[in-house]
Amino acid sequence: MAGPLVTCENLVKIYKQQEANIEVVALQGLDLEVRAGELLAIVGRSGSGKTTLMNILGALDQPSAGQCSVAGHALTRLGERERNAYRRFVVGHVWQQSGRNLVGDLTLAENVGLPQMLAGVSGGRRARRSAELLERVGLGTMAKKRPEQLSGGEQQRGAVAVALANGPRVLLADEPTGELDAQTAAGVVALLRDLTHTLGLTVILVTHDPAVAAAADRTIAIRDGRTSTETVRREQPAPPQTPMTPTEARLHGSDHQASEQSASAVIGLPASTHRESVLVDRAGRLQLPEEALEAVEFAGRAELRILADHVELWPAGTRPFAADEQATGTAVIGLPSEVYRETVVIDRAGWLQLSEAALDRVPFGRHAAVRLAGDHVELWPLGVSSGGA
Ligand code: ADP
Ligand code: MG
Repeated sequence: MAGPLVTCENLVKIYKQQEANIEVVALQGLDLEVRAGELLAIVGRSGSGKTTLMNILGALDQPSAGQCSVAGHALTRLGERERNAYRRFVVGHVWQQSGRNLVGDLTLAENVGLPQMLAGVSGGRRARRSAELLERVGLGTMAKKRPEQLSGGEQQRGAVAVALANGPRVLLADEPTGELDAQTAAGVVALLRDLTHTLGLTVILVTHDPAVAAAADRTIAIRDGRTSTETVRREQPAPPQTPMTPTEARLHGSDHQASEQSASAVIGLPASTHRESVLVDRAGRLQLPEEALEAVEFAGRAELRILADHVELWPAGTRPFAADEQATGTAVIGLPSEVYRETVVIDRAGWLQLSEAALDRVPFGRHAAVRLAGDHVELWPLGVSSGGA
């Protein structure tokens, strides 16, 4: 199978504000993979780096460090001409503000024709393609209308048609439904979903709205310029009575109830339809969800117990460790399964870094399921990989 269409590795973006002599770290080592044909939602508080990431993916801005590849284009190595061609043909944009998407003086058809004209498409073909695209986004009868004659939802549908004018592989939409009511927003997202199916389009969508995120195949939460958690839509909703998969059964154990509630803490989607995991980057960094930090008081450090198939995090000094487990960083031979112990630092936002020993022993891949186990927290590998790797 082909690799992911979009790959970002260790992206860093530092904005330098000359006059104030301040540096703002907008992205700090962000990893991301997106499959072709996927509808990916990105959520995160204001200032978390979402727009910065979208600008880099759109080749409107360059990262300070790290790599990013989209449909085979290495974005840090594009020359000026390649960069222009990339922006024109490989990615399309939909912005939150209609004024940025559509030219007010032009009709919808002319708006869709404009990017094609810039790409050198002849008049006849332009008109045909514009009509076809407007039909596809549900505005077939509105071709002659100007933006001001359209509703907010129609304007955003029009913006999608403009973004698709030159047949991009990837659509980048930064809060496209931010100014729409819930029902209209749902219609626009349903359109984007439909386009991933009918055109094989890949859509990356920034949103604040849990309902919009719920319609995505996958939702990534960004915190402080890094990917924090991932929420995947289940192929089939899991009714409460449905038997769990072996992995889930192991994960949830007797604390099924607690895990159920915590299954999608970040964007507030029900566990019956969505599965949440924390993302583990190449260096082993991950962020514990807020609820894990609330449930167990780590006070900045955790004792790690690395077992054969999962990792336990205990507040330093609290776990009644067996005497034969006392030595830090050593394997305890002779136990049913060897146990390694070490101490890690957990910062205020819940970020920690797993050691190589932990990563070697427990096959996390890029995802870990978090289980709240009362007096400690457990990290388990996730049976189902969904990161496109
Ligand atoms: P989001 O879209 O998640 O709200 P942004 O990517 O716009 O976040 O911004 C991330 C951080 O980078 C914020 O602290 C923001 O103030 C800062 N930032 C964004 N653009 C610039 C810029 N051009 N110059 C300086 N700082 C910037
Ligand atoms: Mg933004």
